[in-house]
Amino acid sequence: MSENWFLGVDLGGTKMAVSLWAEDSNHKTVIKKGVMRWPTTSDGPESNLEQIAQGAEKLLDAARAAPREGAGEGAAVEGHLVSVGISGGGPVDPVRGVILSIPNLPGWDDVPVGSWLSTRLGVPAFLENDANASAVAEWLYGAGKGSNCMAFLTCSTGIGAGLILDGRLYRGARFLAGEAGHQVIVPGGLPCGCGKQGCLEAYASGSGMARRLEVHRMKDPSLPCTAREVVERAREGEVFSLQFLRETAEYLAMGIVNLVFILDLERVVLGTIAVGAGDLLLGPLRESLSRRLWPSFLRGLEVVPAALGSELGDHAAIAVARDLPRVLRC
Ligand SMILES: [Zn+2]
Repeated sequence: MSENWFLGVDLGGTKMAVSLWAEDSNHKTVIKKGVMRWPTTSDGPESNLEQIAQGAEKLLDAARAAPREGAGEGAAVEGHLVSVGISGGGPVDPVRGVILSIPNLPGWDDVPVGSWLSTRLGVPAFLENDANASAVAEWLYGAGKGSNCMAFLTCSTGIGAGLILDGRLYRGARFLAGEAGHQVIVPGGLPCGCGKQGCLEAYASGSGMARRLEVHRMKDPSLPCTAREVVERAREGEVFSLQFLRETAEYLAMGIVNLVFILDLERVVLGTIAVGAGDLLLGPLRESLSRRLWPSFLRGLEVVPAALGSELGDHAAIAVARDLPRVLRC
């Protein structure tokens, strides 16, 4: 019997990866057969895509040569590649399969990655931006399972969101939906990387937290300088770091309250920083939400850390390859 194989390509501004997955015989789950990772270089899209394609071919060759479980010696695995999914770190046009840009990476403007990889590997290729792809992955395989209206917030260097509404990925009119990090939560507040002031990202993202810490460190240089350090010290009980996380939770709550009031979400899944901080951030966040939201919105609302951890990028890419066409059709 032949297995269905899928390739996932995670393409970000600093790193990229290609992973090969096989569907089990019930078509219910996928199992990772191999992965290759590289730093993204500034040589331009052609050279990076070539590296990805060659990596994909190596993974496919290795999978084909692997002995088949339960079969006699020398019996190789039979599998056929169904599709490729690309999770792109930046704005994309998913319909045309074009990456519009990748922040801080020159040369990645209007790159037709979908048709390039599809031609090179001989199967259909699908593209989605990484926040949307991660939302679909957490929804189907992680902390969003079983929900119908959910937001995934990235919460790393920046804040981006992927929205699952009424059981479908919501992309918006220009595929720009989910820029939740740039809602203004403090009018005239701290400058944001986007050029505006007072955005949620300027307060509650990794880079925003680092900038807020800079101000405190001017008075006391012994204080932590990164979100990671704050979490470590809060775990040890440092009063400043605990208070700083409570303050961050307040900002985050303001952003989440807006999303819940507008979208009537039942689940909010939070990435990187929330995963690292756990209840040190989520405790005060839930408490703040319960003060700010109407009881009718709080009923059944769950705010949880992402579940796919360091594998999220690989899962996001495979969700684009395997699940997105189905999810968009339903
Ligand atoms: Zn902004």
